[in-house]
Amino acid sequence: MNIIIFGPQGSGKGTQAELIARNHGLAYISTGDIFRYHIKNKTDLGQEIEKYVTVGQLVPDELTNEIVKDRIRQPDCVVGFVLDGYPRNKLQLELLNTIAEINQVIVIKLSDEEAIKRLSGRLACKCGLSYHLIFNPPKKEGICNHCGEKLFRRDDDNPQAVEKRLAIYHQETEPLFDFFKQKRILHEVDGHLAIEAVYQQIETVLGLNSKNETGLHQNS
Ligand code: ADP
Ligand code: ADP
Ligand code: ZN
Repeated sequence: MNIIIFGPQGSGKGTQAELIARNHGLAYISTGDIFRYHIKNKTDLGQEIEKYVTVGQLVPDELTNEIVKDRIRQPDCVVGFVLDGYPRNKLQLELLNTIAEINQVIVIKLSDEEAIKRLSGRLACKCGLSYHLIFNPPKKEGICNHCGEKLFRRDDDNPQAVEKRLAIYHQETEPLFDFFKQKRILHEVDGHLAIEAVYQQIETVLGLNSKNETGLHQNS
């Protein structure tokens, strides 16, 4: 199954995408993580894109599309993938439609106000996991539960870059929802709830929650 997860910055896409991928054996693809890896390791691509990422602008579509094309062709994607942070505009959606079939789309709804609060406390790890100082602290302060690396604040989680990223989301990404609505594969979930409750909603709308703790199956 190929899934896209949409939502404003800070809505918990990365957190939820990682859970879905881990629990269902799917590949997790985050274009933001791929770009941060290149920037950190100062690859040619990293040096070319750093100026966009730091200020919260989109990396040019040509570069982004190439990266996604390569990634989706990797063998781990054959079983299916969860896409986080792509597509973000019409050109990217057009490219995606030529390389993969999307089966389900999740939109995590969150107000900009709450998104900004979330990002101001976000702690990231280079393995892709993210934590929150208050809402989802790591077991050991400043250290990733999963890989033991030191957590860091993202350079682009500053108020100016956050404002720009949210504006681009509303202007360029939200208009893509119609395409998936027409295909009847778009599901909205309430992102204001706790991480576990958001995850439960996602499992339900995807029809994956065989271990629904309430024991109720919502097939209607
Ligand atoms: P995105 O990938 O959409 O930008 P993240 O998954 O990185 O979002 O989450 C943003 C921040 O909010 C992180 O600090 C994360 O720990 C925290 N967070 C994620 N989901 C929730 C939630 N449901 N309630 C409270 N905090 C959350
Ligand atoms: P966020 O969604 O919170 O902005 P991401 O980690 O998904 O964070 O992405 C970080 C940055 O990487 C973006 O601000 C942008 O510069 C770049 N980026 C990620 N995905 C894309 C994409 N699909 N198209 C263009 N640029 C992207
Ligand atoms: Zn880690």
